[in-house]
Amino acid sequence: MTCDDARRRLHAYLDDELDPAQSMAVEQHLVGCAACAAGRREYDRLRQALAQPALYHRAPDALRQRWDVSVTPPLTSTRPRRALALAAAAGFAGALALSAPAWLWLSRGTETPAALVGEAISGHLRSLQPQHLMDVVSTDQHTVKPWFEGKLDFAPRVKELSAEGFPLAGGRLDAIGGRSVAALVYRRRMHAINLYQWPSDGPDTQHTLAQRHGYAVIDWRQDGMRFLAVSDLNENELKQFALAFDNATPAAAR
Ligand SMILES: [Zn+2]
Repeated sequence: MTCDDARRRLHAYLDDELDPAQSMAVEQHLVGCAACAAGRREYDRLRQALAQPALYHRAPDALRQRWDVSVTPPLTSTRPRRALALAAAAGFAGALALSAPAWLWLSRGTETPAALVGEAISGHLRSLQPQHLMDVVSTDQHTVKPWFEGKLDFAPRVKELSAEGFPLAGGRLDAIGGRSVAALVYRRRMHAINLYQWPSDGPDTQHTLAQRHGYAVIDWRQDGMRFLAVSDLNENELKQFALAFDNATPAAAR
């Protein structure tokens, strides 16, 4: 096994997600390679730091009960989303991106390609780092839409959704699947929603939900545009967002 292979599999190895043969191969590599063993100790330190009880806040009982009622099926996330958000804020998005193979593994059987879901979540985490969320900061769709002009080979659909409880916050350029895409940022209370979009041939599709590590991703196509909405909001609220976006009228070109 090469160092590249070992590093690619390190997260899955630490999370016990590899099959026994692969796990053994990584373990043997770590025994024989000082550089990768040091990388592993780095991750161990990060994991320990993120496990500090001081980083977590217990929700009030009333709120927990509401969640229990409204969230079905129960969340199966194995990593506290707060820890992930902190990791991103601390600049570890690059390290998290390494765990894309783990997302790939977890998402077999869903309709959205796992790599796309992984990229969308990586992009969302990156965007939560200080100064990364927005290049154009405005709640006005008539400011945000023109900002993209000349920066992309298509005109993104920008819609005002504050009446539906999802105020527009701004936008930026991002990359998904090796191409430049528009990322619109909407807010719901203290949560950010990243809505990625790019032109895509093919018929309209239903909203397809994927969940990884406490993040929800909704994927759909409408009128020749592919959309990916990502947030740490609960899935019901993100579905509401996707529906509200579909039903709202886009800003007219100026
Ligand atoms: Zn190595």
